Amino acid sequence: MIQIGTLPPPKVATRELPAAAKPAVADAAAALEKKFGKKASADIARGVHFCALVWDWSTSATGFVAFCTSHYHPPGKERSQLLGRLDEALHLVRGTMTMVGMSNRLGLDLQTGELTPSEELLGAFSVATHLDQDLRTFNVAALVQLNFGTDDLDPPRTREAWVSRRLSRVGRTVIPSELSAEASKRSAEVDSFVAGFNIHLDKIDYPDASVAFPKDTVRISHWGLRDYMMGLNGEKDPLPRQHAIRDLMRRVVDGEISREALGNPKVRWNLRDNTVTEGGKTRASTPIAALRWEKFKRAYDVQRQIDPHTAFGSIIDNKFKLEREMPEEKVVQILTDILSDPVVERVGAYLSRRLGRPLEPQDIYFKSFQSGSKKPPLPFDIAKKYPDAAALEAAIPGILVRLGFKKDRAKWIGSKIQVDNSRSAGHAAAPGTTFDKARLRVRIDKKGVTEESFNIFMHELGHSVEQVLTSYEMDYKSLWSVPNTAFTEGFAFTFQDKADFILGRKSVADPDAVMLQRLWEVYEIAGPSLTEIRFFHWLYEHPEATALDMQKAVRTIGDKVWKDYYARVFGAEGYGLMSVYSHMLWCIFYLADYAMGYVIAYQVRKFLSTRDFAPEMERLCALGSIYPESWMKAAVGQSISAEPMLRDVDKACDRLLGKA
Ligand SMILES: [Zn+2]
Repeated sequence: MIQIGTLPPPKVATRELPAAAKPAVADAAAALEKKFGKKASADIARGVHFCALVWDWSTSATGFVAFCTSHYHPPGKERSQLLGRLDEALHLVRGTMTMVGMSNRLGLDLQTGELTPSEELLGAFSVATHLDQDLRTFNVAALVQLNFGTDDLDPPRTREAWVSRRLSRVGRTVIPSELSAEASKRSAEVDSFVAGFNIHLDKIDYPDASVAFPKDTVRISHWGLRDYMMGLNGEKDPLPRQHAIRDLMRRVVDGEISREALGNPKVRWNLRDNTVTEGGKTRASTPIAALRWEKFKRAYDVQRQIDPHTAFGSIIDNKFKLEREMPEEKVVQILTDILSDPVVERVGAYLSRRLGRPLEPQDIYFKSFQSGSKKPPLPFDIAKKYPDAAALEAAIPGILVRLGFKKDRAKWIGSKIQVDNSRSAGHAAAPGTTFDKARLRVRIDKKGVTEESFNIFMHELGHSVEQVLTSYEMDYKSLWSVPNTAFTEGFAFTFQDKADFILGRKSVADPDAVMLQRLWEVYEIAGPSLTEIRFFHWLYEHPEATALDMQKAVRTIGDKVWKDYYARVFGAEGYGLMSVYSHMLWCIFYLADYAMGYVIAYQVRKFLSTRDFAPEMERLCALGSIYPESWMKAAVGQSISAEPMLRDVDKACDRLLGKA
């Protein structure tokens, strides 16, 4: 095992130039200026700098000047030609690797028969793992960086400039293989730790002696505990049991779960005197203390080692600048807009009336705003109409025509989508190249399609149609797809919303209740998202922090978020709920993606719901994978914002609270 702290210094750090490189960089710039004149000097300085960042200085410092002088393409016609060439060539490299990967995974993804260990082996085989290093070895990275390298984040103004921005990422980072191997090992450790964090609710003696759970009630923290707690809402006298579970969630955050009882069905844990009993013997229980953060810290420590090899140097900056491509201030602003909007108090008032009591902290997870509406049966046998994947595939052009696509267009889109019977409930995979197809996967019973699987099919069809419209006809290959998954979910949900329409039935969902549900979901996740962002800043400000320091900090930060944004709805005591998300332990810093996903998908969906659907979807898809904010402005004429959702919820509240 690698001891973090004793690793060799990085061979090629992406962020800083070695001192030995500086004379060669100056020589290269001088040589290029001599050739292309002073007017090119700013572009030359940019090019040699970024080229130097990816150059292998350990072997060939002397070749750098010669390389730059023969591979620099001055802005204008020559640069454009290189851009077109790289756009095609690199797309084909990545796209064919995607196709190979899909082929290797077929046994894992599709219901092709028994899932054998050999299929698992083949499914894990990737031909792309050394691509970044190979781009360096063959100096493709150096070529790209010399001509297109930049850290600029201002939105480009032309399509060609967008392509240039996309190319600027090529070959920029190579994580040393010993570090990425260690990172994946440690993330697997966190995986199995989180997966094993099971609490046997029925093997605990609670302070409230009236609380008891059925035999073998075992739930994972925090998802399982949360969902079980909410499921109690329909039952008689749920509060004592909900309080008991809420207290267990608080104990998870504060490290007060019994080590002996965790995941162990043979142990009985008495909370009244904090003892554990096993095989007739009773002893004091040992708390897990900072165990969760010890696991986190192992994953985090190796990520800090990886930082100098990344484009922006920290987990925080890479997440916002490289992955989300949204400024941190903007994301935080949207989160706090949601958290501080007065409409959450109105939805809270509605929920309180429905529950018949003042709200309590666990009500933040309430999910049943729409319960009670029953769909009438279909007038035909859906399993007969769609017996298998081939029947669904054949139905696609007809469905698209009903959604407003012209007949020929619907036929063409349908010809690019292959439907398969999947092992998972459903997923959609974009075409890797122009000679590939979009793959729509949905699980279909032997007896044929059910209403549930048809719903999933419609959701995945939204993804697949988006994937077709954002690829084959796109002006540049580097701009295939949409900015991120939140955008494609906007299309997927729009299609899913139309499932009843396609099946020939009026929707029975109460649109106002649906609105309240959407707000409550995003309100719930916005707090943990903000907690995580503040916690990561705290981590970088406290590089020497121990696991115990981390446990305390995440609780303190979460409590402040609770006090500022939730106390007015649920009361002052938050029981640590802001800090309970197990997602944080993976150190992948992505909770805010959920919140932003709800916001972005809502805007896309709302826009499409009142427009001429097919031509507007075509127009939106043609924008391609530019920055999220640029996409949203060009698509719907607005900034990314929670405002449309918040105001629609306000109107839904007017109607619902008026109905009392
Ligand atoms: Zn989806």
